[in-house]
Amino acid sequence: MSHFQRPTGTLDILPEEQPYWRHVRAHATRLAERAGFERLDVPVFESTDLFARGIGTGTDIVEKEMYTFCDKGDNSLTLRPEFTAGVVRAYIENGMHVRPQPVKLYSTGPIFRYERPQAGRYRQHTQFNLEILGAQDPAADLEIMLLIADIYAGLGFENLSFQLNSTGCPACKPGYVAILQDYYQHYRDQVCDDCQRRLEQNPLRVLDCKAEQCQPIIANAPHIVEHLCDECRGHFALLREYLDLLKRPYKLNHRLVRGLDYYTKTVFEVWAGGIGAQSAVCGGGRYDGLAQALDGPPTPGVGVAAGLERIILVMKAQGVKVPPLPAPAVFVACVGEKARPAAVQLTDELRQAGVATWLAFEQRGLRSQMREANKRGASYTVILGEDELARGVGAVRNMHSGEQATVDLAELTAWIQHRTAA
Ligand code: ATP
Ligand code: MG
Repeated sequence: MSHFQRPTGTLDILPEEQPYWRHVRAHATRLAERAGFERLDVPVFESTDLFARGIGTGTDIVEKEMYTFCDKGDNSLTLRPEFTAGVVRAYIENGMHVRPQPVKLYSTGPIFRYERPQAGRYRQHTQFNLEILGAQDPAADLEIMLLIADIYAGLGFENLSFQLNSTGCPACKPGYVAILQDYYQHYRDQVCDDCQRRLEQNPLRVLDCKAEQCQPIIANAPHIVEHLCDECRGHFALLREYLDLLKRPYKLNHRLVRGLDYYTKTVFEVWAGGIGAQSAVCGGGRYDGLAQALDGPPTPGVGVAAGLERIILVMKAQGVKVPPLPAPAVFVACVGEKARPAAVQLTDELRQAGVATWLAFEQRGLRSQMREANKRGASYTVILGEDELARGVGAVRNMHSGEQATVDLAELTAWIQHRTAA
C-alpha cells in the first residue's frame, strides 16, 4: 500500500459510481436548459476579497471554512466556497447587465469548504447552481423553486420537504434584528458561546443554531415574517399564492435565515429523508443587494445551489435506479501473434465506424479472452486466429445467444454496425 491517501474530506468517484453522476448531471442540465438557463463557467479560485464581500465576513464560510492561499505573485486567492459570488462577479465584469434581462445562468463543479467531514459533508463537494439575475418578480423565486423541485422529482425522489421563509430587506430587517436582540436580552446567560457572539456580529444566525440549550429559546423567538415591510410582505404573499396555485406544498420555517443584508426576502431549503443529519439537498434565496455590494449596478437576483453528493446519497437510500454505462458492443479476441496486426486494424476500423470496441491485450489463450469478453459485457466477440486470417474471415460470436457466424473480414465492420446500431 502506498502511504499516499486522498486528503481528509475528499472523495474518489470511481467508475462504478459514474452512472449516478452522469445521470444527475445530464438530467439537471436538460431541465435547466429547457427553462431557458444558459451555462456559465467561472474560475475555481477567485480573489479572497470577492468571497469576503460576497458572502460576508460574519459567516461560518468566510470565518472558518475557506481554503485561502497566496500565489507566487502574492495575491490572496480562495478556492470557491460557493458559486453565487463568482457568478455575480462575472455578470458585472462581462457587462451582462446590458443584455436583455433577466439573465438565467447555471453552473456546476467543485466547491471547497474546510469542514468537519462526515456522511454528506465533505471538504470538496459538487454543486449544481442556478441563478436568475435582473428580475424582482416573485415569479422568478417561484421559477427557481419549481425547477429544483422538478429536478428532484424527475430523479424519482420521494418525501421531500420544502422549507420556506422570508428574511426581509434593509428596510425591515434591522427593525426585526432589534426585536430579536431585545428578546435574547433575557437569555444572555443561557445561550451557547457561538450565539453570544452571533448576537453581536450576525444576529439572525442565532435562529439556525443547533446547540441543545438554544432550542427552547429559538422556539419562542419572534417571527421575522410578522415584521416585514409592505414590499417584502407583498412579495412573500405573492410567492406563496403561486405555490398554492400550483399545489406545491411547503413548510413555513421561521428559523431559516441567511445572515447578511444583501440576502433579501425569500430563503428556502429542500430536505430529504433517509440520509441522516445532513439532509439539506439544496439551499437558495434572493440576494437583491449583492451586485451593489460587489460595486456593480443594482441588480436583483435569486438562486439555488444543490449538493450533488447528497443527491446521490438520497438516490441510493431511496433505491432510485440509473441507466448503466454502456458496455462494449464488440470484443476483439486474437489467437496467435500473426493475427495481432489484423486485430489492431479491425479494432480501429470498428471504432472509426462508431462501434464501441474493446481489444484484448497480451497473448493469451482463447478461453481467458472469452471470459474477459463476458465480464466486460460485450454483445459480440470477434475471434481472429491464424486459420481465419488465412481464409480472410473472422469468427463472430453473439455473446447472448451463443450463436457463431463466419463473416468476411472486408464486410465485418458493416455486419457488426448493422447489428449493433442503437
Ligand atoms: P449546511 O447547513 O448543510 O452546512 P449550507 O447552508 O452550508 O449547508 P449551502 O451553502 O446552502 O449549504 O450549500 C448548498 C448545498 O450544497 C447544501 O444544501 C448541500 O446540499 C450542499 N453542501 C453544502 N456544504 C456541503 C458539504 N460540506 N459537503 C457536501 N455537500 C454540501
Ligand atoms: Mg455549511
